[in-house]
Amino acid sequence: MPNSNTKHFKALIREKLSDKKLRNIVKKATSHSISKRIETINNYIPEWEQLRDRANFIRSKTMQNWEFYFEQLLKKFRENGIEFFYANNSSDACSIVKTLLFSFGVKKVVKSKSMVTEEIGLNEYLERNGFEVTETDLGEYIIQLANEKPSHITAPALHKSRQEIGELFSEKFNIDYTDAPEKLTEFARLILRQKFLNADAGISGANFLVAETGTIIIVENEGNARLSITLPKLHIVITSIEKIVPTLSDALMLLKLLPVSSTGQKITSYVSFIKKPLQSIGSENSQKIVVIILDNGRSKLLKNDKSRSILYCIKCGACMNNCPIYQSVGGHAYGSVYPGPIGSILTPWINTLNESKDLAYGSTLCGACSQVCPVKIDIHNQLLGIRKLSIENKYSPLIERVIFKLWLLSMKNFKLFTLLSKFLNFLSPLFQESGLKIPFWSKYKYFPAPAEISFHSWWQKEVKIKERINNV
Ligand code: SF4
Repeated sequence: MPNSNTKHFKALIREKLSDKKLRNIVKKATSHSISKRIETINNYIPEWEQLRDRANFIRSKTMQNWEFYFEQLLKKFRENGIEFFYANNSSDACSIVKTLLFSFGVKKVVKSKSMVTEEIGLNEYLERNGFEVTETDLGEYIIQLANEKPSHITAPALHKSRQEIGELFSEKFNIDYTDAPEKLTEFARLILRQKFLNADAGISGANFLVAETGTIIIVENEGNARLSITLPKLHIVITSIEKIVPTLSDALMLLKLLPVSSTGQKITSYVSFIKKPLQSIGSENSQKIVVIILDNGRSKLLKNDKSRSILYCIKCGACMNNCPIYQSVGGHAYGSVYPGPIGSILTPWINTLNESKDLAYGSTLCGACSQVCPVKIDIHNQLLGIRKLSIENKYSPLIERVIFKLWLLSMKNFKLFTLLSKFLNFLSPLFQESGLKIPFWSKYKYFPAPAEISFHSWWQKEVKIKERINNV
């Protein structure tokens, strides 16, 4: 049940590039996050680079010894009275949730922001099965009202202007138009408060799962996650295998990096540490907590020495904020649940490489993503790795493969190289002053005309002249 459609990446890039309004909105929002992040680091965290090194070490150690920490986590969950499921793929995860909701007689569900539930297409699945599902993070709520997908992993409605949100609220709730953020927020809060009170179950993601204590950590800014996980009798956590951290102090260390990288905040407004189900005073029945950990292709990455670092990601969104491609086209162009640089290297593993291969070409390889990544993932090298895999699997266009094959042969064979150079020279009348015009390709670049004399012939001529001079 993949919730990505990355096949049309190239076409969507063209479409989004011509949307000037969208480009302005995305540029403004990402620029704000970039400057806030830099300001916080410069003013408050002089040890930033050391923290990044430490975070990289923690993530690398965890992923290399994942099975050990996973077993430790399960033991703690059992001791703490938390039920647990491992879901191999999206459809497994969705059916586990459905079975749980039916067995608890749930009709209404409130959700706090979770990219993993986007990945498995949970909302659509539950609605098809008759459940009422309400997103309670304001950005996610806006996206749900607009019947769209998030365009950023931490700011789902980043692509929308406040005027568009004002129009949306006015249309959906039949209220007077306003684009004042505080009025819109107040209105949403009134509606959502009732949803929390009436919900039978709350579904959340998790930022970290602490192996030594079995603690589930959730960071947020609106308090909606805390209401979603404490008011209903059933709390379902849906998260993915890479969220495990060995110790509480490791988690606290990573918490120093996550909000700064994400929004430029030193710490988010709410950080919830959940260890055991809540016990109501004077009641026999305690709350029930169930954790579902999703694999969806990630265990292949655990075994892959070259690409395992993709799993170090703590989903801060800094790589997309700083990516010149994301800034120009926004998140929807990617067609994947996870957009931007991290999406381009993760999606081919959780989707199929053939379908998602183009994403890795949507990069200038400038390395800005790797420079800001708080856990030091070598993102630009991973992008090259996906390109390499795609070529090895013969997923690149035939014409491209033929050209590169010829180029490789000519580089290895001097006679062939000379012959091809001469052939290109023979074709030079076809070249105009600005280069050869090739349909489609020449819209953005040109094929430069070959030099009148090749470097090799020039060199030979020079050597002969020098020899003659020396012999005089
Ligand atoms: S790859 Fe790095 S910068 Fe990008 S979302 Fe993950 S942790 Fe953040």
